[in-house]
Amino acid sequence: MTATLDRIQASLVGLKMARALEALGHIQRRIEQGEIGALEAIDALLAEEFTLREGRRITMAMKTARLNPPKTLESFDFTFQPSLDRERILALAQLDFINRAEVLHFLGPPGTGKSHLATALGGLAIKAGKRVYRCTLAELIEALVKAERESRLADKLRFFTRTSLLIVDEIGYLPVTPGGGNLFFQLVNARYEKGAMIITSNRGFAEWGDIFGDPVVATALLDRLLHHAIVVQIEGASYRLRAHGDLIPEHIRANAPINPPPPPKRRGRPAKKEPADQ
Ligand code: ADP
Ligand code: MG
Repeated sequence: MTATLDRIQASLVGLKMARALEALGHIQRRIEQGEIGALEAIDALLAEEFTLREGRRITMAMKTARLNPPKTLESFDFTFQPSLDRERILALAQLDFINRAEVLHFLGPPGTGKSHLATALGGLAIKAGKRVYRCTLAELIEALVKAERESRLADKLRFFTRTSLLIVDEIGYLPVTPGGGNLFFQLVNARYEKGAMIITSNRGFAEWGDIFGDPVVATALLDRLLHHAIVVQIEGASYRLRAHGDLIPEHIRANAPINPPPPPKRRGRPAKKEPADQ
């Protein structure tokens, strides 16, 4: 018995299973007291180690994926956003769209939960063992422009193509720098039918020519991004502004639909209430 225990301990040390090693004594006592049988003991020992390692893996992957602040579907108040079909979002949470390398678009005015839902789905994908990366379109293009300048574009494109889910947040808030649309197209083309994307935008597809400053690039982008696509349109009020309803003019509170073009020459990023949210 002691010899067996010694061997188990040595194996756990050799396998670097520190958490299981720690739990061994307690599990052994439970066996002796007749609380659990042999199979349950193996189960408990492995579960201790596995839970710890999974927790660590998820924390690391969430950081690497830049899914912060983390969001969950449980913390999303569907009653606040009645235009959104809860069942449809819960079906997306099964993540089949990732296995099918589809593109999921969240469209809607600021504050309607686009980034929240994208981040929550990203978190679920990480838990399911998928590789995820999230950035804004501006960050993505900046990284590609920099890489091109330093003759590392192919490497950078590979980096953004490696993930099974790429979340590109905030298409349409900032104008794209010249050449940026072209670089984004190279990435979208590299991922086309290979890896899934989630795209969030406050502007309709008809405005992409404007956003990218080039109708040809915009058409080529949309051709790929709408081929195997799921479009979720949110029409509702901003969750950010919900507490200040009386202070806010009606046309902002009601979040005019995104289809009409924005006021002419409104190019800057709108003032944000919570800088941490994107
Ligand atoms: P968007 O990306 O559409 O501009 P966000 O997803 O960033 O909006 O939402 C803004 C803030 O409001 C975030 O803190 C988000 O978690 C929260 N939020 C938005 N919609 C909801 C909702 N329906 N229930 C709970 N929190 C929400
Ligand atoms: Mg957002």
